[in-house]
Amino acid sequence: MRPEILFPLFAPVTALPGVGPRTAKLIESLAGPHVVDLCWHLPSGLIDRRYAPKIADAEPDRVATLTLRVGQHLAPRNPRQPYRIACHDDTGEVTLVFFHAKADYLSKILPEGEVRVVSGRLEVFGGRLQMSHPDHIGRLEELRSLKRVEPVYPLTAGLTLKPLGKAVRGALERAPAPAEWLDPAFCAREGWPDWRTALGAAHAPRGPEDLDPLTPTRRRLAYDELLANQLALGLIRHHQRGQRGRAIRGDGRLCDRAMAALPFQLTASQRQAGAEISADMASQSRMLRLLQGDVGSGKTVVALMAMLSAVEAGFQAALMAPTEILARQHLHTIAPLAEAAGVGLELLTGRDKGKAREAALARLESGESGLAVGTHALFQKEVAFRDLALAVIDEQHRFGVHQRLTLAAKGPQGAKGRGAVDVLVMTATPIPRTLVLTSYGDMEVSRLTEKPAGRQPIDTRALPLDRLDEVIDGIARALDAGAQGGVPGSAPRGAKVYWVCPLVEESEASDLAAAEARHKSLSQRFGARVGLVHGRMRGKDKDAVMAAFAEGPIDLLVATTVIEVGVDVAAATVMVIEHAERFGLAQLHQLRGRVGRGAGKSTCLLLYQGPLGEAARARIHILRETDDGFRIAEEDLRLRGAGELLGTRQSGFPEFRLADLAVHDELLATARDDARLIIAKDPDLAGPRGAALRVLLYLFERDAAVKYLGSG
Ligand code: ADP
Ligand code: MG
Repeated sequence: MRPEILFPLFAPVTALPGVGPRTAKLIESLAGPHVVDLCWHLPSGLIDRRYAPKIADAEPDRVATLTLRVGQHLAPRNPRQPYRIACHDDTGEVTLVFFHAKADYLSKILPEGEVRVVSGRLEVFGGRLQMSHPDHIGRLEELRSLKRVEPVYPLTAGLTLKPLGKAVRGALERAPAPAEWLDPAFCAREGWPDWRTALGAAHAPRGPEDLDPLTPTRRRLAYDELLANQLALGLIRHHQRGQRGRAIRGDGRLCDRAMAALPFQLTASQRQAGAEISADMASQSRMLRLLQGDVGSGKTVVALMAMLSAVEAGFQAALMAPTEILARQHLHTIAPLAEAAGVGLELLTGRDKGKAREAALARLESGESGLAVGTHALFQKEVAFRDLALAVIDEQHRFGVHQRLTLAAKGPQGAKGRGAVDVLVMTATPIPRTLVLTSYGDMEVSRLTEKPAGRQPIDTRALPLDRLDEVIDGIARALDAGAQGGVPGSAPRGAKVYWVCPLVEESEASDLAAAEARHKSLSQRFGARVGLVHGRMRGKDKDAVMAAFAEGPIDLLVATTVIEVGVDVAAATVMVIEHAERFGLAQLHQLRGRVGRGAGKSTCLLLYQGPLGEAARARIHILRETDDGFRIAEEDLRLRGAGELLGTRQSGFPEFRLADLAVHDELLATARDDARLIIAKDPDLAGPRGAALRVLLYLFERDAAVKYLGSG
């Protein structure tokens, strides 16, 4: 249960004064649905309204707060002309100017003969001083509150600064003063204020220097967030590790048979990773390991070897993929090898039903089948293994951190009382070290750093979209060209081409419209050889299209980014990415990785809409320069700043609101050590500091971790 002290912060934003349903919607899209989200919405700039000169001394082209006596209202004769109000003080005159003004309203807020305070930008027009549309108009007694430094917040269309600023102030008023969760000596050393003071100060910058992410205030807030993250991961890990694992030692007989059936040699990286995994599995403690490797680096085979050694030791192993397509693809890779090893293999997805499914379940329950591949369906209640010892999770970033945590926590059925299941997580994006820490905590990591031999570098080119016609002509030639992309032994044929359509918004519907339009125009030229796959299709239909692309009549596949995720069509040699400037670097790299998987020479065309911004230009440049996923990931982090990198919702990384790993990375290391120490001393957060830390976990919505603690 969330601590009561935090209730006001987790109320919907409509609880704030001046926030109705319409504003709430806008705030939600900008910051989030709860009051606390506004607390995290930090200012990105400021307006200094402290300049309050007499009119005679006032400098134009700056923001000023003036105390004026209101003079005559001059309504325009022509409605396109502005409404003017002549005002003065004892030193001079200034005109207030309003376009599209309502006379009643203006005479109410600026009644003739009264004294009013106005704040806004001064300008000179026709040799006279004027202020058009003052930001604030108030009575004399409001002078002090108007003459301040006003924070400026990131906005969204339809939401202006005034109502947002008011909502944020309302949110801050609701912020409680919780007990300190940080070590007081540490705070003192860093010169950090308490949380509430820090929050208030972060929203009340007095000058541009206060907006720096390295002020004590902002560092404190960032640290709190990072500590919540590290503590949550650490607690979950601690309580999982606490479960006894078991030593899984294979004798190599099945692996040897499968290896003999491989049409290639394992790379040194693959062997190394395999050895690390076996050693970990053989130990008594539970394995929680991340297998990190770029697209096409060959993680599946490594996972299979681990799975087979579990079977050698008399247990079972399962591999879970995030999508149906991927589960089937893994099956495709694994099936011939499992057969060579003589091990039963089952596929379980949401789609498999009826007798066949029941038979598969029975074979897993009896232990007749040692291996299972599937989607989430693998971990449904009805699925019982005789003795599952290893779960491989191929996440490709599709599972959120929370999902992964709950999954690992729930654990597959059938293992209770016999020691916890070893877990190997495979991830396709080479994640920079800092990010590994934020999303996986102290998980052990194996990395595949080399590509399988024989891969040819991908020829990457960037072209402006106005050369689309040339590109399509080029595609026509590639589609009809001879054998180059052909699968050895099969009849020669032309290239297989992916055509990825841009991310229009964060909405799947508009992505889809763009992809459908492109599909239509390409079909007009190439006819039935063009296919379309997108995220809204039913699984069966998606598979059918993918199969038709891999083996059948479709040669040109138009896709939304659904193909980003691990799909393997070895014959595909051309990748066209439309509006490449809209994709992130890591995403472009992932997409490009869909080609260049076979022996054929591959090309990636980045079609961009000019003129390119600096960041987009840099992304395309890096992509053309290197194919090293680890380097690309580091560059991506550097270019975008982790904030943005982590902001992409689908990425599966935690989103940080206050911490920016590009500048706060040293705090992350400290937070990790702090979390370790806390867990070593008080793993159930039962002591007084523990109680404060629980509030911290809830504050940053790391509730999943609290479930592991006893009630306290
Ligand atoms: P990913 O790491 O992206 O999951 P996969 O495991 O899907 O990569 O492997 C990509 C392709 O490379 C597969 O077709 C696989 O059979 C092949 N492959 C894996 N290891 C090697 C190797 N050592 N040499 C040649 N090809 C390999
Ligand atoms: Mg794969």
